Amino acid sequence: MSSPQNHTKHNRDLHKVIVLLYHRIIDEAINDDWANIAVLDTVFHRQIELLDHWGYTAITFEDYNLYLEGKLDLPKKPIIITFDDAYEEIHSVVRPILQKYGMPAVVFVVGDLSIRESVWDKELGTVFKLLNDKQIIELKQDGFEIGSHSMTHPDLTKLSREEAWRELLRSRMLLEILLNAPVRSFAYPYGLLNDSIKKMASEAGYLFACAAYTGPPGFGSDLYEIRRIKVINTDNPLLFRLQLHPWYSFLRWLYWKLKRLTSRNVKSSGSSTNSKIINMPVQSERQDRFH
Ligand SMILES: [Zn+2]
Repeated sequence: MSSPQNHTKHNRDLHKVIVLLYHRIIDEAINDDWANIAVLDTVFHRQIELLDHWGYTAITFEDYNLYLEGKLDLPKKPIIITFDDAYEEIHSVVRPILQKYGMPAVVFVVGDLSIRESVWDKELGTVFKLLNDKQIIELKQDGFEIGSHSMTHPDLTKLSREEAWRELLRSRMLLEILLNAPVRSFAYPYGLLNDSIKKMASEAGYLFACAAYTGPPGFGSDLYEIRRIKVINTDNPLLFRLQLHPWYSFLRWLYWKLKRLTSRNVKSSGSSTNSKIINMPVQSERQDRFH
């Protein structure tokens, strides 16, 4: 039975969870085009080493769900490490590093497994190989959580309801068939969403849906718009640690709110703009080459 004290403690626990966002982990010098979404493998290794040293314990959304069901305690410093797009190096580079520290991660995969390359990267001039079926299954067997990143990686807010529903539901079903296990987490392509898409994510059977720069600053306040910390390519312990601080997320949230307000004011003379669509992040994330 939950008492007010338990409820307060529960809420406090919710906000302790940190969710990191990575895309590519590469072993070459980062050029400008990729600087925003790639981290060098040596830097990534150092970051994981630091997390371990600072006492963080990596969990998955599935673990967190067990916690909500009262079947699992949260560790003292829980952290969820997520990867969008499922580039091939998750298997070859990320997996051995995380295994060394006993850390699982959550990998968001496109459900259309005939898509073997990151076709959405074309605008940056190059596409990259994605995980194949066998590698995805192996990651799952190693304790990684596999989540859906839609069927084909579109901007869901631009699709008809039927198309968006297919992207959400069919990707979950196909991944569940591949893994022979439930798929409970989702990441919105490009971090783009609106209230209608959020509702559909819930109706399609997901328990968690990750945004990027949007959503409340504290984890647990909105499980269908989970704000993540996009990790920058730094092995400076101080800079890395700053990103993990609750104030960092809060300030990013404040910045997002102010920008959104400004954006709405600029559009105030517009006639039929759907105010539920988050206008500002569309632009900023594209500029930031966020996927
Ligand atoms: Zn993506």
